[in-house]
Amino acid sequence: MEEKPLTPPRSTQSAPRARPEADLPASFQRFCSVARTVEILSDPWSFLVLRECFFGTRRFEKFQGMLGISRTTLAKLLKKLSALGLLRKEQYSWRPPRFEYRFADKGRELYPVMLTLLKFGDKWLCGESSPPLRLFHKECGYYCSPLVVCSHCGIELIPRRVHYRDVPGAGSNPREVNWTRCRRVSHPAPLERVRPCSVARTLLVLGDKWTFLILRDAFFGIRRYEELRARLGIATNILTDRLARLTEQGILVKMLYQENPERFEYRLTEKGKDFYGPFIAMMRWGDKWLAGGKPSLKLRHRDCGQDFQPLVVCDHCYQELDPRQMDFTLNYVL
Ligand SMILES: [Zn+2]
Ligand SMILES: [Zn+2]
Repeated sequence: MEEKPLTPPRSTQSAPRARPEADLPASFQRFCSVARTVEILSDPWSFLVLRECFFGTRRFEKFQGMLGISRTTLAKLLKKLSALGLLRKEQYSWRPPRFEYRFADKGRELYPVMLTLLKFGDKWLCGESSPPLRLFHKECGYYCSPLVVCSHCGIELIPRRVHYRDVPGAGSNPREVNWTRCRRVSHPAPLERVRPCSVARTLLVLGDKWTFLILRDAFFGIRRYEELRARLGIATNILTDRLARLTEQGILVKMLYQENPERFEYRLTEKGKDFYGPFIAMMRWGDKWLAGGKPSLKLRHRDCGQDFQPLVVCDHCYQELDPRQMDFTLNYVL
């Protein structure tokens, strides 16, 4: 069977309307906290510094030794991450004056996001080998895996059990977002520098904001090329490229939904559905730290009927995971 090319029909003038059953928010062009979170994390060097910081690196020379970059580049990066409010610079010696970099709350709270990315990478991107690292929860004394649960009832969150609704007045015009800086991260080398890392591998799948926005819409039930194009205001070549990559990576599957003429839609695979944890954890972080406390969407959990926050907890004791209570075993030698 010949597949139709991925380009949209030329005659299309207006965007198809959202299907009413899909629980769609009224506007998808809102400022999206997930996209902005991805923007921060998908910058490879920022990611690497944050990752090493979670591994306990604090001092300039140590960062430089781990990452093997020039002093100037590292100084710029640390300055940028401090300006973003993710790290704070603290003096630890006065004579001579010396500083170290520690997480500010905003940065430390990226930990649950990192854990969900780690879990995805461990499950789907390690091939035959065992995951690079095992997490140990000091609080309960067990090796653990992160779970994303409803803050109200504690049940693990899955996409079809979550209802989204718009919050009137929240968000802002997408033209304020600098979309042009959006580039795919396509080479694993810089991200896996120093150590093998499931989070880095997941970020590679994620690639860029567009990929994440397509996934976000997939979680909202948007499956068709034209709908995606119209909602995201994305260039057709970028949309075609990202859909092809997501299909290649087994995140989406292209399915025939109409025979004559042949039409296809993109559905999430089991692997794709497992992106829900990272997605919703990023949404929470972005809403809290990047949206000025004004989330553009409210989430309601169908299982308990309540508005909720997604929490990343230990699958053994169900306590929220905090980097200060975690230890890890490396399955590799540095
Ligand atoms: Zn619930
Ligand atoms: Zn635990």
